[in-house]
Amino acid sequence: MLVVMKAQATPEEIQAVCDQITSMGFRPHPLPGAQRTAIGITGNQGEVDRGNLEELSGVAEVIRVSKAYKLASRDVKEEDTIIHFPATETCPEATIGGRNLAVIAGPCSIESRTQAFEIAEIVAAGGAQFFRGGAFKPRTSPYAFQGMGLEALRIMAEIRARFGLRIVTEALDNESLELVAEWADVIQIGARNMQNFSLLKKAGKLRKPVLLKRGLCATLEEFLMSAEYIMSEGNYQVILCERGVRTFADHTRNTMDLSIVPAVQKVSHLPILVDPSHATGKRDKVLPMARAGAAVGADGILVEVHNHPEKALSDGPQSIYPEQFAQMMNEIEQIAPIVGRKLTRVIPVAAAQTHGD
Ligand code: PEP
Ligand code: MN
Repeated sequence: MLVVMKAQATPEEIQAVCDQITSMGFRPHPLPGAQRTAIGITGNQGEVDRGNLEELSGVAEVIRVSKAYKLASRDVKEEDTIIHFPATETCPEATIGGRNLAVIAGPCSIESRTQAFEIAEIVAAGGAQFFRGGAFKPRTSPYAFQGMGLEALRIMAEIRARFGLRIVTEALDNESLELVAEWADVIQIGARNMQNFSLLKKAGKLRKPVLLKRGLCATLEEFLMSAEYIMSEGNYQVILCERGVRTFADHTRNTMDLSIVPAVQKVSHLPILVDPSHATGKRDKVLPMARAGAAVGADGILVEVHNHPEKALSDGPQSIYPEQFAQMMNEIEQIAPIVGRKLTRVIPVAAAQTHGD
């Protein structure tokens, strides 16, 4: 159920409707839009008794939302969600969603301070706003490198301060979630955890953006239901990411399902990125598929970059070289305007200050 408020409804009227929903034993989710505020109702098993909701002051109408996912749906919020990262002392303002094409780049894993700093310099020079690096790694083999943990988070905090890049890193379980929430700007929930419902709910209790990767065989509805888990707990800052799904094709690691981008955009207001690195698993396929991602209208690209991929402790074969990253930025910058977007290259605050000295 959804309560649509009148355009001129006051904050007090919105609050009164929320209080009424709470007193009915449900949870209100006020979602302000450009024209009006809509209040999603969750916590009900079946149909919500409309009670006197329709009569409350400031209410335009009460609508039934037919989709399984409610808060993630465009029925509840018509306009695109834009995740804002306000400017800080070290980082310029950034956004994910809306007109800007966001770029999140960096190594699969943080392997050492030197490795992370060298790659961060390349990522910042290319003008990306976000640096990615795994601290806690989901590995198929228990004998493979599992990540540097807290030490990696500390290194990335230094990178943020030095280069003005925001940090995106994966939380693997409930323990690492707390650490990641403390140190990172965006919490990544990986493909293998897309249906780890307790982790999703815990991330929903936080007030930090969550980058949710699509599961290896998740349908669009399952993907959005996982986003809904996070949102149902009050965290509406969810960024989706298509990272390839399992198919019979064996020429690539996974199959990049590009058509999920317009399919998501039709039914959901949440931003959706594409990850051509995990989707293809092969360096020579990453640039063409990044171009395709920009062309299909994705809200951004997540890409693995390494200065010595042959020595990388994880995902070396799919990590692109620094020169390829620069080329990717140039290419997607040219494609972006064709689909009504813009790649805003960021001049890091720290670098801008250094140049000004
Ligand atoms: C990653 O981003 O390095 C990663 C492990 O991604 P995914 O969960 O998509 O496999
Ligand atoms: Mn990886």
